[in-house]
Amino acid sequence: MLVSVVVPLHNEEENVEELYNALKSVMDEDGNDYELLFIDDGSTDKTLDILEPFEKKDPKVRLLRFRRNFGKAAAWAAGFDHAKGDVIVTIDGDLQNDPKDIPKLVSLIGEYDVVNGWRKKRKDPFVIRRFPSIIANWLISRVTGVQLRDYGSGLKAYKAEVVKNMNMYGEMHRFIPAVASWYGVKIIEVETLHHPRRRGQSKYGISRTLMVILDLITVKFLQSFSTKPMQAFGPIGLACGIIGFAINLYLAFLWFSGVPIGHRPLLLLGVLLIIIGIQLICMGLLGEMLVSSYHEGQKKPLYVLKTSSNSK
Ligand code: UDP
Ligand code: MG
Repeated sequence: MLVSVVVPLHNEEENVEELYNALKSVMDEDGNDYELLFIDDGSTDKTLDILEPFEKKDPKVRLLRFRRNFGKAAAWAAGFDHAKGDVIVTIDGDLQNDPKDIPKLVSLIGEYDVVNGWRKKRKDPFVIRRFPSIIANWLISRVTGVQLRDYGSGLKAYKAEVVKNMNMYGEMHRFIPAVASWYGVKIIEVETLHHPRRRGQSKYGISRTLMVILDLITVKFLQSFSTKPMQAFGPIGLACGIIGFAINLYLAFLWFSGVPIGHRPLLLLGVLLIIIGIQLICMGLLGEMLVSSYHEGQKKPLYVLKTSSNSK
């Protein structure tokens, strides 16, 4: 079995050498064949200069160079696209995750399709990182229906076929387990070690939590309604339209019986509801057209078949 270890790196010059050595010693012992796939996400420091000699002397090392900083999700996506392994492991490049946990995760692939590392004793600042992530984990678990304790963990293992064709952008990488489970894969969460960041700087702050929430809305929407937008917009549109129509019918009735209605706020409400109703129905129709061209044009699957048996 070939294991691809995918490592996103952005300005980690102080960590890459120790990281390479640690990964190397763990993977050499593991027994499985492996490749180390480093993705340089537009580093402006010496990260690349330090990595290049490793790439030259070690055939197990592959290096992808981004033209600029595209973000961790993009780095993972590139890693998934270029990985040759049957199993793909992602790990942060700042040594906060411990490479020693990799064999444990890999050994569970086969029985499971996705293994999520749970940073049980997470060593990050409480107020700006751990507290927001408690809320985020709770929220994501509730909304997606996939219960995990640590969605944000950088250490995960996947059966390659699970992530090979997944579309990712924004903070989507956080939801891979949830999206994967909608396709019907088996997920397990295992405890992993976590260390404080010893060198270099964290690239994320509190603002990311807000982005996560917006992306969560997108993911939820895509999950529930991406194949049936009319069912999302239609009922509300219909309800608005019917109420608006009823209001205006009532006012028309008054008007015909000689009561002036021009000054009544209710008239505005009725007209507004009818317009909103029509707009929502039209949005639903537009959505349906988008969905049909999306599925027909790109031959997107309505269902996913297993390509290999569940055994290793
Ligand atoms: N990273 C990246 N691109 C970015 C930001 C981060 O490739 O735009 C990498 C970073 O080098 C590290 C991993 O993603 O290997 C996790 O980043 P960081 O440690 O800053 O996040 P935290 O642990 O604070 O959540
Ligand atoms: Mg980190």
